Amino acid sequence: MDNVLNCKEVNSYLIKKLTKRCSNLEEEGITPTAAFVRIGSKRDDIAYQNSIMRTCNTVGVSAVLHELEDDATMDDLTKLIKKLNHDDSIHGIMIFRPLPEGLDEAEVNSIINPDKDIEGMNPVNLAKVFAGNYSGFAPCTAAAVMEILKYYKIDLEGKHAVILGRSMVVGKPLSMMMLKENETVTLCHSKSENIEEVARMGDLLVAAIGKPKAIGADYVKPGAIVIDVGINVDKDGNIVGDVDFEAAAQKASLITPVPGGVGSVTTAILIKNIIKAAQRLQL
Ligand code: NAP
Repeated sequence: MDNVLNCKEVNSYLIKKLTKRCSNLEEEGITPTAAFVRIGSKRDDIAYQNSIMRTCNTVGVSAVLHELEDDATMDDLTKLIKKLNHDDSIHGIMIFRPLPEGLDEAEVNSIINPDKDIEGMNPVNLAKVFAGNYSGFAPCTAAAVMEILKYYKIDLEGKHAVILGRSMVVGKPLSMMMLKENETVTLCHSKSENIEEVARMGDLLVAAIGKPKAIGADYVKPGAIVIDVGINVDKDGNIVGDVDFEAAAQKASLITPVPGGVGSVTTAILIKNIIKAAQRLQL
């Protein structure tokens, strides 16, 4: 299909640019360095960790892994984060999520030094995104969506974007980032009524609901741009998006695939944030 947005190409473009930026910093004696904190040994976390480490290595970013036991307490995690907050050799901190039960994610987000918050989850950074101020860090997945639209020079001004899903990781920050680009934004959630009808009003439709292939052709306005943020495992063990790709692609003018879609750009944004943190902390 020729209406598929090639997100791997966006990723390659960013990685090339970031590698150059990293090598320039290296010449100034700065090696961007991030601490990655993993609690327990979940397979998904280890797979994601390995993929991030490989990308760090490609770009020239130094990655330091901290592993806590499955039964780590809030106290253990808080002590580690505070230590990393005060460690001048660490520019960015990332925690693998979701956290094990009993650990308070909101509390963790607020403890991370906003200047090292490369995931963009600290309330200070979120407040900046909501104020249209990009001096901090935006949540990586929302930023990845914006980066894909920018790479393909998609004109957003005045267009109606319908976003399905209102999480703090994707839907809410993305709605604010799109608003800043002068889009008209509608944000839907699980309690929204007539959701197919609302979705069909979107010149741009973003699906971030965590429901495998739930968004079919009936949600898509003919000619709309469809961005699928979802990453789900279906009953046969395949990675699929929130959008029924085959059906939606028949009506969309442009569409992102899964796998090989938004997720392939998210790691590049995380690396971009590590480099930005290193540059800022050296100033
Ligand atoms: P989440 O925290 O579970 O939030 C899901 C949101 O979708 C909630 O706001 C929920 O509404 C809404 N929702 C659920 N069912 C709905 C429906 N039928 N119609 C409309 N809205 C509905 O999920 P998340 O963390 O944002 O993740 C969403 C998806 O993105 C998941 O598949 C996840 O794996 C994927 N993801 C991908 C990346 C990436 O890099 N590509 C990164 C993060 C997440 P309520 O608020 O009313 O409950």
